[in-house]
Amino acid sequence: MSHRILVIPGDGIGAEVMPHVLRVLDALGVALAYELADLGGVAIDNHGTPLPPSTLAAARESAAVLLGAVGGPKWDALSMDQRPEKGLLGMRAGLEAFANLRPAMLFEPLADASSLRPELVAGLDILIVRELTGGIYFGEPRGVDNEAGRRRGYNTYVYNEDEIARIARVAFDLAGKRNGRLTSVDKANVLEVTQLWRDVVNEVHAEYPDVDLDHLYVDNAAMQLVREPKQFDVLVTGNMFGDILSDVAAMLTGSLGMLPSASLNAHGQGLYEPVHGSAPDIAGRNIANPLATILSAAMMLRYSLGEREAADRVETAVDSVLAEGFRTADIMPATGTDSTRLVGTAEMADAVIAALEVPA
Ligand code: NAD
Repeated sequence: MSHRILVIPGDGIGAEVMPHVLRVLDALGVALAYELADLGGVAIDNHGTPLPPSTLAAARESAAVLLGAVGGPKWDALSMDQRPEKGLLGMRAGLEAFANLRPAMLFEPLADASSLRPELVAGLDILIVRELTGGIYFGEPRGVDNEAGRRRGYNTYVYNEDEIARIARVAFDLAGKRNGRLTSVDKANVLEVTQLWRDVVNEVHAEYPDVDLDHLYVDNAAMQLVREPKQFDVLVTGNMFGDILSDVAAMLTGSLGMLPSASLNAHGQGLYEPVHGSAPDIAGRNIANPLATILSAAMMLRYSLGEREAADRVETAVDSVLAEGFRTADIMPATGTDSTRLVGTAEMADAVIAALEVPA
């Protein structure tokens, strides 16, 4: 039986890159049935809304959603509620995707692109698991009011134990399938809600005796990520700390054009998308790096479709095209070497497909 995938190309380079990503998936020989849908700016143009109900309904019926990117200047003047990005937030909420997975993998040939010294990051492979639907970004009460003539702003940092336990289980499961080490990040010395976080993560640990667990305060975790990032395997944390730490980790790997992500719900359904946006400044010129979306597709194969071998093949192919010297403009070193070769979007995808065809 083939896996049912909803493909949402979206806007800008999202729409430009996606056909090449589908070519890569086709070359794997995995049985996939695609359905295409609109989201974001193109959905506003075609359906008058950034998230057409038919798109969300199709997403719910699919094993996974593969998304390009949304947004662009054409829709920037619309009200907040009508903007393309609202469609993306609605899609994440509609799928109840509470677990955000952000890998930070540094492909060896790109070690020079990192903001850290190559020896600190070469071979880096860490995974940040961020709680995505709770915490201070959603807690009530929230707002800005007026107290005796002075404005006062407030938000509420709240998690209940079920929310903590379910994200902890996702992280322990993933750590168990990787190198068996999980670091939970909190601020338990100051915030009661994160003392509860620490307590619940410790309780859930009893279900995963094979995974080593440690805890770090978020300030120390930030410091360790830029001091010695290779000490980590999987990190799990709440929404706000995860937002910040995943961007720090992203920069260790050099370019936005290389970063995939996944957001999973309790049924293993997932939304897979590159971290980057629709890049209107380069759209339509065949220069966007397709690897972030290709690597997002690899995550989809691994986490929602159970096609681990195919996922490994894609990641190995990406590694080998980089080792062969293929570079899109965003990852081209300022002083190109003899072994690097500047290519466009289509040629990069061609190179990945050619590498897939080389027998292991
Ligand atoms: P962006 O990620 O689109 O671009 C930032 C910079 O990185 C640009 O210079 C761009 O050219 C470059 N870049 C991004 N992806 C690249 C790739 N694959 N290859 C080469 N270069 C790449 O962020 P932005 O410019 O802040 O936002 C542009 C639009 O995208 C806005 O409408 C924004 O709201 C939207 N956006 C969407 C998402 C999403 O769909 N998930 C995420 C972020 C931004």
